[in-house]
Amino acid sequence: MNILIIGSGGRESAFAWKLSQSALCEQLYIAPGNAGTGQYGTNVNLKVTDFEGIKTLVLEKGINMVLVGPEEPLVKGIHDFFLADEQLKNVPVIGPQQEGAQLEGSKDFSKQFMQRHNIPTAASRTFTRDTLQDGLEYLATQGLPIVLKADGLAAGKGVLICTSLQEAQQELIEMLNEAKFGDASSKVVIEQFLQGIELSVFVLTDGNSYKILPSAKDYKRIGEGDTGLNTGGMGSVSPVPFADEEFLTKVEQRIVIPTVEGLKAEGIPYKGFIFIGLMNCEGEPYTIEYNCRMGDPETESVLPRIESDMVDLLLGVAEGNLIEKQFTISPKVAATVMCVAGGYPGEYLKNKVMSGLENVRGSIAFHAGTGMQGDDVITTGGRVIAITSLQDDMFTALQQATLDASRIYYDGKYFRKDIGFDLI
Ligand code: AMP
Repeated sequence: MNILIIGSGGRESAFAWKLSQSALCEQLYIAPGNAGTGQYGTNVNLKVTDFEGIKTLVLEKGINMVLVGPEEPLVKGIHDFFLADEQLKNVPVIGPQQEGAQLEGSKDFSKQFMQRHNIPTAASRTFTRDTLQDGLEYLATQGLPIVLKADGLAAGKGVLICTSLQEAQQELIEMLNEAKFGDASSKVVIEQFLQGIELSVFVLTDGNSYKILPSAKDYKRIGEGDTGLNTGGMGSVSPVPFADEEFLTKVEQRIVIPTVEGLKAEGIPYKGFIFIGLMNCEGEPYTIEYNCRMGDPETESVLPRIESDMVDLLLGVAEGNLIEKQFTISPKVAATVMCVAGGYPGEYLKNKVMSGLENVRGSIAFHAGTGMQGDDVITTGGRVIAITSLQDDMFTALQQATLDASRIYYDGKYFRKDIGFDLI
């Protein structure tokens, strides 16, 4: 098969690494990819939302399957674009159609979906500009802290945890009346704060059956000890030690099954990944959010633990026979440490030459924000490169990934040296 991966981050590098290992994969293309994905396939310089450009590529290269990494093309309807095109409609797209992508594209939609299907989640109400006054009054009746969420995609910045009523009311006014997050905050979900430990569970579904992929925990804050600003993710670990069998059974029964069945019952076709952000509140799982794709940097820890042929699994999704596919997870532990650019998540350094890649010996280097300048690998993004180590035990995996992350050099490099050490 000829396969196209859409995206350019560490997640797409991990997919490229995994899919290229399959005997079913002949030619692999990554659009646009990065300096690392070129070792697994051919990079094609296209924007992830350039649907016409993607169409031309698919037809020219005889591509048989498209895997969509990031949410933006899904929420903008890339799958629907394929289905509506005579020449593309038989090329399977892994990733939901626009309607299913609303699970991520609209917090209000996902909260209502959870409520319709009795999926445990924090109590919430949604307000618009017209109901701002009701929202302000509602806030006064709620406890603190309280969570405000912009309804639409806001590049991971649209969730605010407010610790005073005054702050919450001010933020609500700014979101609804002053378009603090643009169109994304034309609706705001006000949600009860959940106290607990976060983790993520990933589901692959063909719309009927599903496979639960390894669980993972990511580390969002820039600073060691989980301090400082939020980032796209500074590292991840899989499996999550506190997500034991009992807890995961609850997740499957109360969240995964009702989600897949709920989509089916509502006639929402869904072929792809569902990322379920969870809070473990004293052993009880609550859904914080859905994403319509895999997480980054969780993918970098999850995929190395999947022993089965990923292309075969994706074929199961495309052909609707995922239930028949063999699915094995390695008992090993994967740890990922993200090296970022100096200044990130604020304004950050770019175009710095990277060296030391050849010294990464006990880990896989999944490129993220990298590009080529002549023969040099240079930094192009905030999150630059993810270093993943797969080992027999958590301590060794964490130690090895951290050691290998320290072997990479570029001006301004920063990484957290404490990823996962809270779990042992
Ligand atoms: P979301 O985009 O909905 O995942 O929210 C981003 C982050 O905000 C989550 O990863 C949590 O750390 C935090 N968060 C969201 N909702 C809640 C909640 N109801 N209670 C506590 N923390 C939350």
